[in-house]
Amino acid sequence: MGSTPFLSKEQAFTVRETCGTPVYVYDEGTLEASAAAVLAFPNAFGLTARFAMKALPTAAILRLFDRMGLHMDAGSGYEAERAMRAGIVPDHIQITSQDLPWNLKELVEKGCLFNACSLRQLETYGQLFPETETCVRINPGLGSGHSNRTNVGGPSSSFGIWHQYVSQVLEVARRYGLRVTGMHTHIGSGTDPEVWLHCAQLALDIAARLPEVTRLSLGGGFKPARMEYEDHADLEAIGNRLIPEFKAFAASQGRELRLEIEPGAYLTANAGVMLCSVTDVVDTGDEGFDFIKTDAGMNDIMRPALYGAQHPITLFPASSRDSEHADYLVVGHCCESGDILSPEPGNPEGLKTRTLTRAEAGDILVIGGAGAYCASMAAKNYNSFPESPEVLLTKDGALNLIRRRQSMEHMLENEVLN
Ligand SMILES: *Cc1c(COP(=O)(O)O)cnc(C)c1O
Repeated sequence: MGSTPFLSKEQAFTVRETCGTPVYVYDEGTLEASAAAVLAFPNAFGLTARFAMKALPTAAILRLFDRMGLHMDAGSGYEAERAMRAGIVPDHIQITSQDLPWNLKELVEKGCLFNACSLRQLETYGQLFPETETCVRINPGLGSGHSNRTNVGGPSSSFGIWHQYVSQVLEVARRYGLRVTGMHTHIGSGTDPEVWLHCAQLALDIAARLPEVTRLSLGGGFKPARMEYEDHADLEAIGNRLIPEFKAFAASQGRELRLEIEPGAYLTANAGVMLCSVTDVVDTGDEGFDFIKTDAGMNDIMRPALYGAQHPITLFPASSRDSEHADYLVVGHCCESGDILSPEPGNPEGLKTRTLTRAEAGDILVIGGAGAYCASMAAKNYNSFPESPEVLLTKDGALNLIRRRQSMEHMLENEVLN
């Protein structure tokens, strides 16, 4: 499954007329379908599915997923606060943060769940809330991710408590009367059901040594195919592969573990596109390249510059040129040579041309796969470009503005002139 833009050419021009460019467009139908697929993840003894909100934390999106029945994974105390302001009930928010929230006491008193990501975090939680339940994040020792920059497990990753320190977890828990009822791993296992199986087996082996654990989260990292040629995680196949392991655990340990998963990218990546306009077409001579310059860049979409990530790019010409094609490098508008939307796959320092309809200034470019880690992760306000607006295309075809374009006043609001 690739991600053909859900927007027609006509709709794209309408969006530009009403909202200007650059603008993110999210598709309600696709968001609902991906949420339904996640909630149908096969499981042995029940499922809680959370949305890893760092992928797309806009309030309207959180509410849509909340209505569908997803809970939230907050990657910081600020995200937990943001989810609550969007109207998510606190006990549907679990905090998994590298950085212990400064207001952890208040967040937990309000009802947010806490996932201790280090022994020190567990200790602090124990001091604040002795004799309560909690969850611990374990690094099961298995690495994954498509590059060192996306690795979230194994010896080169700092996320979670190293799996050999389970006895220290139990010792801290004993000291504060904590019941460790949740265990969490997130190593970003990708698309292969066998890798997920291996990860689940490692996690279950560790859960066997934490006698009070009744819920096990396998995290997120169900990789969606942004490009046609990429593999797309098959949730049904992965879930079905794991069921026998949970049943075997129940038989040997006498505990039926509730499964938790917390996808981010899977839920939103292909439900979003960024529309931008071609502002210029230049070249560097016979030995060089043809470049398309756009009015968006790393201040909107950072992933290509950061990881060499690939996003599908479609050009909608403003006049009829559909049969003419050329090879282009697509570049962003920031004064930074690394601001490129067509890097070499997996190599942000390399370049790779895309074959597109022959471009002219005034055309529209649709950058696909832009629903996750784009609006939320951009190099905001670099070159003083404002944050781009976000629009939700509803199932009945309406375009609902869910975030306005940032104003200059807002950008400068916190500056102090004495
Ligand atoms: C980012 C993150 C996720 C989601 O990862 P995806 O690859 O977007 O599915 C889930 N859990 C935790 C703890 C995370 O940090």
